[in-house]
Amino acid sequence: HATAFPYGRTGQMLLMEALGLKDREIILPAYTCVVVAHAIVKSGNKPVFIDSEPDGFNMDLDLAEAAINDRTGAIIATSIHGYPVDLDRLDALITRHPDVHIIQDCAHSFMANWKGRSVQEAGIAAIFGLNVSKLMTSVFGGMITTADARLNERLRTIRDSRLERLGSLAELKKVAYILASNAALTPMAFSMVKVIQKMGLIDRFVRYYDEAQIDMPQDHLRAMGSVAASVGVSQCQRYPETVKRRQRLAKLYHSLLSDVPGIEMFPLVDGATYSHFVLQVDQPDRLVAACEKQGVELGRVIDYCLPDMESYTSYISHSDFPRTRALNAHVINCPSDVTDNQARRVADVIRANMAAATK
Ligand SMILES: *Cc1c(COP(=O)(O)O)cnc(C)c1O
Repeated sequence: HATAFPYGRTGQMLLMEALGLKDREIILPAYTCVVVAHAIVKSGNKPVFIDSEPDGFNMDLDLAEAAINDRTGAIIATSIHGYPVDLDRLDALITRHPDVHIIQDCAHSFMANWKGRSVQEAGIAAIFGLNVSKLMTSVFGGMITTADARLNERLRTIRDSRLERLGSLAELKKVAYILASNAALTPMAFSMVKVIQKMGLIDRFVRYYDEAQIDMPQDHLRAMGSVAASVGVSQCQRYPETVKRRQRLAKLYHSLLSDVPGIEMFPLVDGATYSHFVLQVDQPDRLVAACEKQGVELGRVIDYCLPDMESYTSYISHSDFPRTRALNAHVINCPSDVTDNQARRVADVIRANMAAATK
């Protein structure tokens, strides 16, 4: 069963309610998107952050298990950047703690699989984000999937009573906004957009809320509209092709960049779907700035350490976060909507600018 929401975080918040979770501790990765923690707090529960595993991005499941107590309500397992959560270890954990719900956060990992098993199905429900930055998109939106018909029924009842319908004018405005911002991302407009961004003008529209505050966007209780829904449905059909393309691109980037001194690569993993192709360098901001001058935009995905953010320092934590902080400080992501030739140029520009990133 799949149920649509205006944001993944709205779905997550109402899912917690449908599961009867209130005043409970919810375990989640420290290395994840800030909105996941916000949705936990807004659902009346407490986030418990867990450091990343030694050689990857995903939550360390030993530390997660050690944090379980009588107040624990759920574990949000996330396949970060599309790298699948280790389902064998997660199964073993569930066997020892059958009362703790497992929620899969698949915002980065549509169709990712662990040894052939779909990550999405390994828990009571899965969260998907569908905004324009995601691998599959309905322009605006999110989705919760579950194999539990009764849970889905409860979730839909809560959704239908809580969400306000989006009027067609409001939806048209949203669609116009997205068309305009897509036009702004064409290469020609790109440099101009950068200038406007530096002047702080775009932030007024895009950041209509402050991510450092525990809050939800003002329209988070306005239902997904029909235009967004039909975009989402048509994206489903293109989806297997999109994933194959990402997997090929990851292989290509990996072969082009793995011998570059100063770049630390992550191994390619079977079943990973690469929402982001990421690597680590010593001085990522310098590399990003140097490459930008040559028209190559690298990203700094998750460059904040969630449990170190002021709004979260008062929440309990059972461990420290050295591995997460290292990822926050060193990870960059390469452009992912590119042709093979564009990827080769990206790799050349990165290689040429590595001196800047190691000083
Ligand atoms: C995008 C994202 C979500 C959901 O985000 P919304 O913007 O609320 O749709 C959840 N988890 C992760 C890891 C994400 O990147």
